[in-house]
Amino acid sequence: MEKYMLSIDQGTTSSRAMIFGKDGACVASAQEPFEQHFPKPGWVEHDPEDLWRTVCDCIRQALAKANIRPGQIAGIGITNQRETTILWEKNTGRPVYNAIVWQCRRTAPLVEKLKASDPEFVEKVREKTGLVPDAYFSATKIQWILEEVPGLKARAGQGEILFGTVDSWILYRLTGGTSHATDYSNASRTMLFNISTLSWDEELCRFFHIPMCMLPQALPGASEFGYVSTDIPGLEAIAGVGIYSILGDQPAALFGQTCFDRGDIKNTYGTGCFTLMNVGETPIISRRGLVTSAAWSIEGKTTYALEGSVFNGGSTIQWLRDELKLIDHASDCDVLAETVPDNAGVYLVPAFSGLGAPYWDMYARGAILGLTRGSTKAHIARAALEGIAYQVYDLVSLMEEESDCQITTLKVDGGASVSRFMMQFQADILNCKVDRAKERETTSQGVAYLGGLFCGYWKDMDELRNLRHCDTLFAANMQEETRQKLLANWKKAVSRVASWEEKEE
Ligand code: ADP
Repeated sequence: MEKYMLSIDQGTTSSRAMIFGKDGACVASAQEPFEQHFPKPGWVEHDPEDLWRTVCDCIRQALAKANIRPGQIAGIGITNQRETTILWEKNTGRPVYNAIVWQCRRTAPLVEKLKASDPEFVEKVREKTGLVPDAYFSATKIQWILEEVPGLKARAGQGEILFGTVDSWILYRLTGGTSHATDYSNASRTMLFNISTLSWDEELCRFFHIPMCMLPQALPGASEFGYVSTDIPGLEAIAGVGIYSILGDQPAALFGQTCFDRGDIKNTYGTGCFTLMNVGETPIISRRGLVTSAAWSIEGKTTYALEGSVFNGGSTIQWLRDELKLIDHASDCDVLAETVPDNAGVYLVPAFSGLGAPYWDMYARGAILGLTRGSTKAHIARAALEGIAYQVYDLVSLMEEESDCQITTLKVDGGASVSRFMMQFQADILNCKVDRAKERETTSQGVAYLGGLFCGYWKDMDELRNLRHCDTLFAANMQEETRQKLLANWKKAVSRVASWEEKEE
């Protein structure tokens, strides 16, 4: 009887289930969107029951499509939107409030207040958790729910209320309430977890007024997390199957891209871009705005990742299409960009919502610079694609500097990585190879790989390396002089948009 690995990917806008075979190929999948709730400007919530229901529906559909019979699933992995926060009752398993989504800005003023109240706060958080304090991370979201729901604080203190990121929530439900756990990568994004000792930090929990009895057990990403309950309608075929891996979405993609060695690096080109570098078994605390997390742990070894993001990646192309109406389809951007031999001095800085590392300038705004009377829409399309690649260059160079690793290949995936022009330009400007994966779903695949290693479905990392297929390898092909000139102009362009929105004192 053929066996398979099942992965559950609970994302920000949809849930997915995918079934993988020994050759690493997906044999069946299902995906279901769910409602986004925006109760106030800047607030984002999900109904935790929607997350659970869509996950179950997807598993059922995927199992049916692949005609899976009991005994055919060797193990299960869970990957998820990170930071999103859920609190539920221990006795009933019922959520006490909607999930507060990572994007939600409701606790931004709270974070500012904490920063102002303790001058050592920022440094302490950085040293212990590897993070730059922000409302994204779970800590202030937990604090907010505890303060807003009447009587909840006292109940939490008595051990009646549990906290979990989405992985914990799905695990709890899947195991019929018997497992309350998470993995180090998800714990790393709460702002409560000490990434050096790999344990919850008492001092930070006290600082955020979070009773430690609410927290899930933090385990290595490859662990025996629990077993599927026999009481879930429609999931009889996987009753009793082990959940052997949990990883947040980005570290899962890093694993799926088989970035197993120190210095291996990947970038996902989606709406935004996420760059992650494997920095080995010792965390590196960034001085210039990158964040560090524990990624995966297997056989007693924990691998850390340095992470940075570009706020506007593929969204820049959407902007050309939807706001400027310069193109009809995202793919037209490439066609247009290739009609001109160079950018003719035009630079587009897509700082629509500020700039992340290494600039960290929330007041920067977008601009198109270097226009002449001869500039055409083709130059603007080209500048847009180049602008995304320059931002990834900035992150990759910073990572090289902080990790002391020289990169030779950037592995890439995500919706916007289909742009041939952008990938070639990325290789040129980085002066390294860009290796685009054939597999579209590196996230689901990554968590399946890790679980499969744990339960012996796959033998070792070398076997997994062989399962990855390169779609296209882009080799650098640009004169060094040209590269340096372009980079200098990009830096100049970025400097012109700095602090644009800053209010004068
Ligand atoms: P997310 O997971 O963030 O929703 P995806 O990985 O699905 O994003 O990628 C979608 C993004 O890719 C969109 O912002 C879109 O503009 C961009 N995109 C899609 N096709 C192309 C293309 N041919 N060239 C450039 N960008 C593209």
